[in-house]
Amino acid sequence: MSRLPGLSGLPEGALEAWLQAEGQPGYRARQIRDGVWRRNAGSAEDLRNLPATIRARLGESFRVDTIEADEVTVADKGLTEKTLHLLGDGQLVESVLMHYPARGRHPDGSPVHRERHTVCISSQAGCAVGCPFCATGELGFGRDLETAEILDQIRHAARRLAEKDAHLTNVVFMGMGEPLLNLDRVLEAVAAISDSERLGLGARHIVVSTSGVVPGIRRLTEMAPQFTLAVSLHAARDPLRDVLVPLNRRWPVAEVAGAARDYARTTGRRVSYEYVMISGVNDTDLDADALAALLRGDLAHVNLIPMNAVAHTPWQASPPERVSTFAERLRRGGISVTVRANRGQDAGAACGQLAADHAGEPAAPAVAHRRETILRQSEAALRGRRSDEKLGRGLEAAAVAAGRPSGEGTVR
Ligand code: SAH
Ligand code: SF4
Repeated sequence: MSRLPGLSGLPEGALEAWLQAEGQPGYRARQIRDGVWRRNAGSAEDLRNLPATIRARLGESFRVDTIEADEVTVADKGLTEKTLHLLGDGQLVESVLMHYPARGRHPDGSPVHRERHTVCISSQAGCAVGCPFCATGELGFGRDLETAEILDQIRHAARRLAEKDAHLTNVVFMGMGEPLLNLDRVLEAVAAISDSERLGLGARHIVVSTSGVVPGIRRLTEMAPQFTLAVSLHAARDPLRDVLVPLNRRWPVAEVAGAARDYARTTGRRVSYEYVMISGVNDTDLDADALAALLRGDLAHVNLIPMNAVAHTPWQASPPERVSTFAERLRRGGISVTVRANRGQDAGAACGQLAADHAGEPAAPAVAHRRETILRQSEAALRGRRSDEKLGRGLEAAAVAAGRPSGEGTVR
C-alpha cells in the first residue's frame, strides 16, 4: 500500500509547508483545497485549476484519494445509498448516504423542514468493542482509519450528491468503529468538516457517537465542541449492558452517564442516547424505568431504534407495540424520546453488514457457538448477574490507550 499521506487529511499548515519547499507561491494552497473540497478531485489529474507540473508533483507526494474503489447499493426507493469502500491495503469500510426530502409547507410555499442529505461514516475498519447485535462488532477490529480515509468517504458522498445538484448537510460518525478509540484522527476530521475552506459544515450538523469511552468523553468535555455527542446506551442496568456493550465492564453505565451529563452541562448541548430495542432482552418495563431513573433531569434525548436482525444473534427486534409502550413509559418518566426507523434494511444498511457479507458466511459451528455464548451471557445478565469475563486483549489495550493524554504511544 502506498504510504504517501492522504491529501484531504493533511494537518493545518502542512500544505503551505510543502508548497514552500517546492518553491511555489502560498496561494496555491487555496487552489488545492478548492480542488479537493469543491471539486472532490479523485486524482492529481482532476486538479485542473493547477499547472501540470504541480499536479505531477502532488501526485508523487500525496494520495489525492485514499479510497481505491466503491461498491454502491441503493435501498428505500433511492433514499438510502450504502457504499462499501475499498482501502489501499484491502480493508473494507462502509458509509451510508441518506436523503431526507423537504417536509411541510409554510403559507408562502417554503418548506418547514428543508431537504437534508446525511452521510454516516466509519472511523475504524471493524471494531474491537464487539457488541453482539452489531455486524461490525462480529467482524472484530481491523485498524484505525487515517484522517484522510475518514474524510474521503465524505468526499465520495459529496461527489455523488454534486452529480444531482445537491449538497451534503450533515455528517454522523455512526458507521463502523468506535470514534472515541481513534479520537485524534476523528477530531482532525471534524476540524476539516467544519473549516470554511474545506467542507464548511457547521459543527451543529455533526454527530459523534460513542459506545461509552469515558476518558474520550471527558477529553471532549474539556474542548467543549459544538457537535452533538451520541451515546450508545442500549441498557441502563450494568449486568445487561456488560453483555450488550462489552466496554461497560471497563466503564459502567453510571460513569458513562455521569461523563455525558458533565459534557451536556459544560457545552450546553443535549446528549443523544441511542437505544437498540431487542425483544425480551432490554425492552421490559423494568428497563424503561431504569433508563428514566438514570437520565431524569439531564439535558438528554433518547432515540429508540428497533434492532436490525444481523450479526448472527439469537435475538429479534422488539415488536412495534412494545417499542411504543416503552417510549410512552419513558415520556411519563420525564424523558424526551423519539422512535427511529431503521434505514436501508433491504440493502443491509446496518453498518458493517455489507463488509460482513463480503467476508463470507462463517462456518455453521462458529455461528452456533456465537449464538449459544450470547444466550448464556444474556440469560445470566437477565437474572441480574454481572459478567466476570474480562475484555479481550485488543480492547483492553485500546481502552488503556484511550485513558492516556494524546501523543503518548498507543499499545497496538
Ligand atoms: N461505535 C459507535 C458508533 C458506530 S455504531 C457506537 O456504538 O456508538 C452506530 C449505532 O448503530 C450505534 O448506536 C449502534 O448501537 C447501532 N447499531 C449497531 N448494530 C445495530 C443493529 N443490528 N440494529 C440497530 N442498530 C445497530
Ligand atoms: Fe463497535 Fe458501535 Fe458496533 Fe458496538 S455498536 S461493535 S461499539 S461499531
